[in-house]
Amino acid sequence: LNCKKHHSHWNIYTDEQEESLKQQAGLLHDIKYAINQNQFDIMIQPQMDLFTQEVVGGEVLIRWQHPVRGTVPPQEFIELAEQTGLISQITQQVIDIAFHWISLQKAIPNKFLLAINLSAQELYDNELLPFIEQRIQVYNVHPHHIAFEITESSMMRNAEQSLRTIHQLQQYGFSIAIDDFGTGYSSLSYLQKINADKIKIDLSFVKHIHQNKTNQAIIRTISQLAKSINTKTIAEGIESADELVTIKELACDYGQGHFWSEPLAPEKFAQQYFKRESVTQEVDE
Ligand code: C2E
Ligand code: MG
Ligand code: MG
Ligand code: MG
Repeated sequence: LNCKKHHSHWNIYTDEQEESLKQQAGLLHDIKYAINQNQFDIMIQPQMDLFTQEVVGGEVLIRWQHPVRGTVPPQEFIELAEQTGLISQITQQVIDIAFHWISLQKAIPNKFLLAINLSAQELYDNELLPFIEQRIQVYNVHPHHIAFEITESSMMRNAEQSLRTIHQLQQYGFSIAIDDFGTGYSSLSYLQKINADKIKIDLSFVKHIHQNKTNQAIIRTISQLAKSINTKTIAEGIESADELVTIKELACDYGQGHFWSEPLAPEKFAQQYFKRESVTQEVDE
């Protein structure tokens, strides 16, 4: 056992806890360094219209290009970044990269939406809206090409201010999607307060959906509800043709998942999905 004076009280740690605290401290140090060194990068995953097969959007997914550990997925650092408040700076870097990228695209389909994830903290960070406003101007980005994905649980802690931020984003012309729908505690009260453009059905409901009657009933209900309040649904994590067929039968509007594509490097995404209109001007390689 180890004893440590922490602020005004003593904590007692086991060796295992001590080890994990050291790891967390190391990770935290690395995250701060990564922010300074701009080690964060994005991938983009297509979102498809299930019936027209057209691309309707792309989700921006952060990747940390760590010089020693390689590509670190978000599950390994977002939570700690949220707990320590560093997420605000990370989000600003993601927004900056994403806005810059979309401002460079010459052949964006009219209704294309680039979707950016926001953490809970962002919604009560006073710097978020001024930052976004400033970046819109710097890159001359049109809010009608941008959506923000917000998880249900993110509103719980400070509902009033979160709602205010969401409504302001909507006033600017940004779309709002409710992420991981069905996994939080307040799904329905959320719908009542946010005029969301899209509901993202969590991938845990989608996995093996063709073999799961309960999840079929859940998704059918969500998509009926969404239709009755004029909101689109997107099913996350579609991997197989069987899942796709069932999701279409359940009347979801859009889909996202490995069935179409894994998250792609932004240049690759543009090549693959924005090519059609620019192809006539380009010389074949
Ligand atoms: P999310 O927003 O729900 O993103 C969807 C996750 O599902 C992504 O994981 C994506 O790669 C994964 N996915 C997509 N298709 C499939 C599929 O067919 N099968 C399976 N099994 N998974 C699929 P990723 O990129 O590891 O991100 C995990 C979570 O990290 C995200 O969940 C989001 O909550 C968070 N995150 C990612 N980027 C950001 C960011 O820029 N800011 C914030 N605050 N959070 C982010
Ligand atoms: Mg998301
Ligand atoms: Mg999700
Ligand atoms: Mg998630």
